[in-house]
Amino acid sequence: MNTKYIFLTGGVVSSVGKGVTAAAIGRLLKERGFEVSIQKLDPYINVDPGTMSPYQHGEVYVLDDGAETDLDLGHYERFVDISLNRVCNVTTGQVYAEVISKERRGDYLGGTIQVIPHITNEIKRRIRMVSKTTGAEIVFVEVGGTVGDIESLPFLEALRQMRGDEGKENTFYIHITWVPHIGATGELKTKPTQHSVRELRSIGITPDMIIARSDYPIERELCDKIALFCDVERRAVIPMTTAELLYEVPLLIEKTQVAEILLDRLGLETRQKPDLRAWEKLVMELRREKPRVKIALVGKYVELHDAYLSVREAIRHAALSVGVEDEILWIHSSDLEKGRGVELLREADGILVPGGFGERGIEGKIHAARYARQNQIPYLGLCLGMQVLVIEFARHVLETDQVNSTEFDPATPHPVIDLMPDQRDLTDMGGTMRLGLYPCRIQPGTRAAEAYKTDAISERHRHRFEFKNAYRDALREAGMRFSGLSPDDRLVEIAELDDHPFMLGTQFHPEFLSRPTRPHPLFVCFIKAIKENVTRDT
Ligand code: GLN
Repeated sequence: MNTKYIFLTGGVVSSVGKGVTAAAIGRLLKERGFEVSIQKLDPYINVDPGTMSPYQHGEVYVLDDGAETDLDLGHYERFVDISLNRVCNVTTGQVYAEVISKERRGDYLGGTIQVIPHITNEIKRRIRMVSKTTGAEIVFVEVGGTVGDIESLPFLEALRQMRGDEGKENTFYIHITWVPHIGATGELKTKPTQHSVRELRSIGITPDMIIARSDYPIERELCDKIALFCDVERRAVIPMTTAELLYEVPLLIEKTQVAEILLDRLGLETRQKPDLRAWEKLVMELRREKPRVKIALVGKYVELHDAYLSVREAIRHAALSVGVEDEILWIHSSDLEKGRGVELLREADGILVPGGFGERGIEGKIHAARYARQNQIPYLGLCLGMQVLVIEFARHVLETDQVNSTEFDPATPHPVIDLMPDQRDLTDMGGTMRLGLYPCRIQPGTRAAEAYKTDAISERHRHRFEFKNAYRDALREAGMRFSGLSPDDRLVEIAELDDHPFMLGTQFHPEFLSRPTRPHPLFVCFIKAIKENVTRDT
């Protein structure tokens, strides 16, 4: 079978949930027996989001192979339950870097290098790599931003060419737009959609389907109007009201027959009846009244919840499986340094310190870890959160506040967390951390072993600093357990405290492997400990 391509573009405004929509439709096709993969084309010039501030970009999502990618890849992996690879996130920066390095090598000797065909060919090469590297039969390609942006033009041109290259029966264009609601008259307006489609057509792409997003239900007549003005089959205008719950989206899209229309137009026959019972159960469980637990998330970028998207989702997956409703108390780590936010910490049934970089707010995070240790509050530390756990405990054991990570105090007399040796001589910042999946051995008789129920695991990493082994003995004697180690015993991957209901930190990022129907075992253990604490107290 030829690879089938489904292209998704956005119109009118960004942030209308293109990524989630692509992911949900992907799931519906997987449910019908097809191998599906999803790729995101990002028009910015950075090579990857790894060097961008979370304020600019939200979370950096890490894949098995260590690629630092857009957070939409998290939606794709979670909804479709697949593992993607680095070709699944392409940026303008990568495309140009490749073309320019070929030019320097002399690959195009004599030629003038131009956007068309050199840049567009490189984009198409990368689109085709997805099925080659993942074996997918159906490849979704989502273009970031909205039609009309200068940056996305080469990507759209490449998409346009794909129809000629691959054939009409193998390509399908979905345009996702926003239908605004005018408060004064209570009307929904299709004009921006019409304009956006006109813009797309001027580039040479006629959409095969329009998904019209809105906060209000879109009446049939309005869909008729969109179909008429935009020259799209009536059944292929799909109204999509904003869902109350994220995980409801596949169920809502299933009702709209999008999957049938796609298969029909791509000349495919359903291979199996979709089984969405697990999703239905998930949504029912989300709706059910449940005992509430409060989790303090102490971070540096808490104003922007997207900076912790996977952590948030992993908490939700685990809470659902344990039968509780999570409420996140967002605490700014710098606030804790100034004595603010302490009342929120007191209110919390559990404390989570996620990953992060740089000194700002670090003492606030250490304060949170101390509070958790002294008050027997369940604590989960992710990457930097594990390093914070170690620093706090070592300050207590060594009885000095001079303990630190060399990331925050290069001259500290007690560098319990220090730069990894292979990081010392690096000069480039981009893509040079310890990234991606690494194996880890779980030590028997520990909390980690209880959670994982196996002694060999692999988890995704993104860090430069590590636990300094010279401190292992002193901290072990004081009650710290190194419950996860690299197979050669050199790197501490998990540290936990004896004598505490749950105080555990991971050098890796377990949140990236949590799935809605397969919550991550460490998050489940954390939430269980919280639940036990709460029920004991009441
Ligand atoms: N800044 C720390 C390091 O580089 C932690 C990184 C993280 O939390 N992802 O090791």
